[in-house]
Amino acid sequence: QVLVGTKVDETHTNWVAAYNMLTGIRVSVSRTNAKLDRPLTDEDFEAKQKSTFDIAGNELVPSAKYDFKFKDYAPWVFRHLRSLFHLDPADYLMSLAGKYILSELGSPGKSGSFFYFSRDYRYIIKTIHHSEHKFLRKILKDYYKHVTENPNTLLSQFFGLHRVKMPYGRKIHFVVMNNLFPPHRDIHQTFDLKGSTIGRDYPEELLSSNPRATLKDLNWLRRHQHLELGIIKKRLFLEQLQKDVKLLQRLKIMDYSLLVGTHDVRRGNDENLRGKTLQVFEPRGDGKNSQEGPEQHSVLMRTPSKLEHQRKTRELRQMLKSERPIPIGESSNKMPDELDDNKQSIFYKDDGGFQATHQDNAPAEEVYYLGVIDCLTHYGMVKKIEHFWKGLSSDSEKISALPPQQYGDRFLKFMSGITMSPEDVAREAQDRGHD
Ligand code: ATP
Ligand code: CA
Ligand code: CA
Repeated sequence: QVLVGTKVDETHTNWVAAYNMLTGIRVSVSRTNAKLDRPLTDEDFEAKQKSTFDIAGNELVPSAKYDFKFKDYAPWVFRHLRSLFHLDPADYLMSLAGKYILSELGSPGKSGSFFYFSRDYRYIIKTIHHSEHKFLRKILKDYYKHVTENPNTLLSQFFGLHRVKMPYGRKIHFVVMNNLFPPHRDIHQTFDLKGSTIGRDYPEELLSSNPRATLKDLNWLRRHQHLELGIIKKRLFLEQLQKDVKLLQRLKIMDYSLLVGTHDVRRGNDENLRGKTLQVFEPRGDGKNSQEGPEQHSVLMRTPSKLEHQRKTRELRQMLKSERPIPIGESSNKMPDELDDNKQSIFYKDDGGFQATHQDNAPAEEVYYLGVIDCLTHYGMVKKIEHFWKGLSSDSEKISALPPQQYGDRFLKFMSGITMSPEDVAREAQDRGHD
């Protein structure tokens, strides 16, 4: 899958749902952020706040284009999480502002989840299954604690957990999370790695028609690929990964992957593509008037321009201030996060990623974008059944539905293998030869 999407405008089947998601987020996030900050309590982790939107609106809820119900889960916990991940509240609201268009990725996985990018491609909205939703609420305290203690965590960053219900419609549960890939850099290669080899192969013959498809474990091994990190970065990476996987094992989570995106500095960005797609994402004021139709476009460009984004953010911050006084020291008064670079996670601080490094510590010509994604699958009944059936037919070490402890061990083993330099590999082969 190339990170392309279909623009969600008023002609799109999921326009109403997408509009409602954004409107709900905007209203509930500004509501929580308008209050004075305070420490979290145990109740905050269980909390949920319900709002009813309609065309008329009332003093608590502004009017909306459509009737729907919105639930905001653990609003205070996510406010604190957003702050831990250095998001500026006004900036966040800008990116998810309801009148702007999202881009839908359809369902890239087998799970049936839908993915939407915020208009500036910084955030991803993923619809999740009710069981994943319940599970995230259950583990939220552990997740929060882990993130607090591990500022460099590689786990998905969750910024919000919400639910939309439309009249006569299904309940749609969704999370807002970080897009691991940068809006302003082409990703030349993408891998989704689990450490399993069964079924983990993207058909190479399809690559010519889809050159930026997400490749898998077997494609990686076939290419004898490795992450060039040098000794120090390799250690930092593996140590953090171990801590993160330990949490996932304890919480009995499995089926997660390491997403690896590579930007090749020598190739740079494809400015042709960039120029073409740029117009598509220029905000059109009211989100109407699209001549282009539901085209395919890529995430390669950064739009709107950084400057425009900053200007809009300032305006919005001003608005937030004038509506309700925001006390001094409140995070809303912070500068945009690009000025807080020193606080960024070590894995996301080289232009949003982790710069490759040669064995001799010289910088290499690639930037990696890394993270552990899809980490809300609990090793429950379904997986146990899958394990039983698959276990009958193939080597049980290699199937993907292992119990969480083994899944994590296998995952770590694979990741430590792919961070070996060619020299390491040669040395190991030689050592084996001597035995
Ligand atoms: P399945 O359960 O079948 O694996 P899923 O619907 O749960 O699928 P994910 O595994 O979460 O989906 O993601 C599918 C693909 O979407 C990933 O391989 C990756 O290409 C892209 N993706 C997911 N999360 C992110 C993210 N945070 N940043 C960038 N890309 C992402
Ligand atoms: Ca997955
Ligand atoms: Ca999944």
